[in-house]
Amino acid sequence: MKPSILLVEDESALLELLRYNMEAEGFEVRASQDGEEALVLVQERVPDLIVLDWMLPSVSGLEICRQLRRKPDTRNVPVILLTARGEEADRVRGFESGADDYVTKPFSPAELMARIRAVLRRSRPALAGESLTYADVVMDLMAHRVTRGGVEIHLGPTEFRLLRHFVENPGRVFSREQILDAVWGRDIYIELRTVDVHIRRLRKALNLDGGADLIRTVRSAGYAIDTQQALQRRAS
Ligand code: CA
Repeated sequence: MKPSILLVEDESALLELLRYNMEAEGFEVRASQDGEEALVLVQERVPDLIVLDWMLPSVSGLEICRQLRRKPDTRNVPVILLTARGEEADRVRGFESGADDYVTKPFSPAELMARIRAVLRRSRPALAGESLTYADVVMDLMAHRVTRGGVEIHLGPTEFRLLRHFVENPGRVFSREQILDAVWGRDIYIELRTVDVHIRRLRKALNLDGGADLIRTVRSAGYAIDTQQALQRRAS
């Protein structure tokens, strides 16, 4: 099951940007632009983590945080506060309200994603270890599901193992023999061109929506997963 995030932010553009990034990282996202509505959403279903803007219409993020901490069923939900305030006194108030972490605007989505993963690792180690990410590809290892840019991709079991091997070793070039050993196992007789067949299938599935080709073919050497190459090819 995907870890769920409740995202509370009243600026529409920022909300959509963060929602996009969270979904691309494999999170299930519910979003609200209003403090009171956010409290209702938490009551409906307690999320695995809340990303909460400080300044909100109706109820402030700080007040939401205090209310969550008072109730037994939401006391331990990790909260990351977003705010334009960077001063030390505000930071202290944020932590006193019960926030687990604090991100000051402006911030990059990548920074927030890193904080989310760090907070989840501390609070829910089981959730954090279940997925692998490379560029916009997310592999859910427990559910055997893969998404690219938030869109689900259907892979056969061999393609899944192939992709996992590449994503665990980003940028490294593997010969067909090495890929056979890693993905099919040693002592199994399979023709080398079988590797090419499965690489082709993997590539086709990954590039379904016309995204940059992440699999690099290295002539007479083998294959690698490599975004730099893909971006360069795209730009040239
Ligand atoms: Ca705001």
